[in-house]
Amino acid sequence: MTNFNKNDIFEAEVIDLTHEGAGVVKVDGYPFFVENALPGEKIEMRVLKTSKKFGFGKVETYLSQSEHRISDIDLDYLRTGIADFGHLAYSEQLKFKRKQISELLRKTAGKVDFPVLETIPSPEILAYRNKASIPVRAINGIVETGFFRKHTHNLVPVESFYIQNPEIDTIVLAVRDLIRKYSLKAYNERENTGFIRNIVVRRAHATGELMVIFVTRKAAFFKVENLLTELTKAFPAIKSVMQNVNTSTGNAIFGTEWKILYGQDYITDRMLGRDYQISAPSFYQVNTAAAEVLYQTAISFADLKADDVVIDAYSGIGTIGLSFADKVKHVYGVEVVEAAVTNAKKNAALNDITNVTYVTTKAEKAMSDWLAQGITPNVILVDPPRKGLDETFIDAAAAVGARSIVYISCNAATFARDVVRFEALGYKLDKVQPVDLFPQTHHVELVGLLTKS
Ligand code: SAH
Repeated sequence: MTNFNKNDIFEAEVIDLTHEGAGVVKVDGYPFFVENALPGEKIEMRVLKTSKKFGFGKVETYLSQSEHRISDIDLDYLRTGIADFGHLAYSEQLKFKRKQISELLRKTAGKVDFPVLETIPSPEILAYRNKASIPVRAINGIVETGFFRKHTHNLVPVESFYIQNPEIDTIVLAVRDLIRKYSLKAYNERENTGFIRNIVVRRAHATGELMVIFVTRKAAFFKVENLLTELTKAFPAIKSVMQNVNTSTGNAIFGTEWKILYGQDYITDRMLGRDYQISAPSFYQVNTAAAEVLYQTAISFADLKADDVVIDAYSGIGTIGLSFADKVKHVYGVEVVEAAVTNAKKNAALNDITNVTYVTTKAEKAMSDWLAQGITPNVILVDPPRKGLDETFIDAAAAVGARSIVYISCNAATFARDVVRFEALGYKLDKVQPVDLFPQTHHVELVGLLTKS
């Protein structure tokens, strides 16, 4: 508990950052979380809210500012939504991510001072994103595009998003203007009315090909022909325009129904010297140049041999396994999204790779099926979503006795949890390499190497 009440003002020093980038102030052990406050800064803060275990505050005045503070006004604006570390110097962002992984390994896996390697920086720290999902809402009757303010669904209109490829910004504005011109309605979340919910744009990093996805609340899309003609004439790099119908009221961007409005249902990019078709429902890393570094790190950790059988679990469109298939005997991939598996099979063919097999199912199911079929991989590579690995996956993976598990993770908390499980089954954590895929944000990505002890 704290003795402070709402609107109390006091002087404090910021001692830490939460993993989402809020400053931490402590009074007799009671923590306050303060937006836009960096470690080392002395502030006069106002109490916004208190609860039993923690409170929230806001900066009234900076009594001193951190030497690591970036005072770029536009980035600071984005800090309130899509770039929560926009106010922190990039070199400090890298240190913070490494420290966060160390702390989670200490807290969750009991590893004191595990030598997490220094975070590899992203080749580009602004304009790096190849994809944007932009909410479309009306403000005072005018259709706007922008981002949601942190922890809300309040749209902040913005024209330059800084962290995504500027061509994507241009497309978003052009689409916004066409929506206005053709008087299409923006989605209204509260009343579940209106038509266009989101514009999603993907841009292939190496080829510049573009895909535009209209996420709509209903299927019928009036006046679409003229709009498409104008859009694709103005931007010949658009190879695909898709419609996704999302009738739900939840937070998921996509619903289940897809239609091709123009061109193909995929765009083609190039990574590590291979071509990849990417369709709308398929996952594709948003920072292509940094993802290449991530994959190379994973491949070097795997220390592949010509007669190795390798599992690429959570394989998406095949980008990891197809990068090294020519160096090994066989790659088995598993992925739950059917469209992604269709892409992966096509991508193998596009690159003349024949020693790969893909199945569409859950990784935990495939792992035990392979075990039952007597397939004995030497290396198991995993790249799961934030929730990490299923326990049954870990059991089956450990049972086949692969010499190493290469674990790509976008969530250090579930990674640390899974390391404990692997260690109980005879594996040992050797190395952890953070790679920064998400500059200006709190998101962490890492590659871990576990070897059979
Ligand atoms: N390795 C790919 C994809 C990684 S993202 C790449 O680098 O691009 C994680 C992938 O896991 C997504 O494609 C998601 O669809 C898939 N996925 C999520 N849960 C899964 C499960 N239980 N089994 C198999 N795949 C799953």
